[in-house]
Amino acid sequence: MDPLRRLVADLNAYQPMFLASYPTMLALLAEEQKAGRLKIRPLHLWSGGECLPPDTHAEIETAFGCRVVNEYGASECMSIAFGCGEGWLHVNADWVLLEPVDSDYRPTPPGKASHTVLLTNLANHVQPVIRYDLGDSVIAKPEPCACGSPLPAIQVEGRRDDVVSLCAPDGSVVRLLPLALTTVVEEAAHVHRFQIVQTGADRLMLRLDTSRRSDRQEVWRAAASALRQYLTRQSLPNVHVGLDKRGPVTDRRSGKLKEVVVAKEAKPLRS
Ligand SMILES: [Zn+2]
Repeated sequence: MDPLRRLVADLNAYQPMFLASYPTMLALLAEEQKAGRLKIRPLHLWSGGECLPPDTHAEIETAFGCRVVNEYGASECMSIAFGCGEGWLHVNADWVLLEPVDSDYRPTPPGKASHTVLLTNLANHVQPVIRYDLGDSVIAKPEPCACGSPLPAIQVEGRRDDVVSLCAPDGSVVRLLPLALTTVVEEAAHVHRFQIVQTGADRLMLRLDTSRRSDRQEVWRAAASALRQYLTRQSLPNVHVGLDKRGPVTDRRSGKLKEVVVAKEAKPLRS
């Protein structure tokens, strides 16, 4: 939630041996490290909470000169699978049952991308979670993994929100993490189904799903005020926050909702 400049200064002062974060944040920090502004020498990095694409994985490892351990988890089961050196995720099969299924909830064969995946947590006896629909597309590896692990290997195509690049008054480009933006809205307005769309270099639009709520204006005011405060802290007091008449729009192909989207007409800025 802090501005990148402050995070970099704090990390330089702290010099962590181990650093755990979202892949989008690790990628931003990797660029800071490459540019010489961030100067840390961690022995290990950990990535989780979002999908880690192979090229991003490699870029982060090159920038910091150490391994990134990738972990696949969810609130319903904190550690579902962990990454191996061969680029696969190995399911903690003694803790969790993971069933790749098609749109009719029939099992998907190994090697084929599933529509979604059902999760059963075998370790949580206090709050049973049985065949919970996670919404991620999973491919199960048909043959044993070359790393030697006997645990089932999978690849996950999870939800990935866009990193937003906005233009500050001095012309510099400030990049914001999707997870930071959604946290600001969730905490201020107590909504969980919404969408933030970047429509220009200094424009964000909010789409709210308030069809069953009578307090649409109240939700909008709370969300907009929190977003403007957050943007000001990130040196972006100039960014316009508007309310879209439309509700959130799901992805045409996957049917899933991306919470933070850069609209095609917004033309991503590069720093
Ligand atoms: Zn492996």
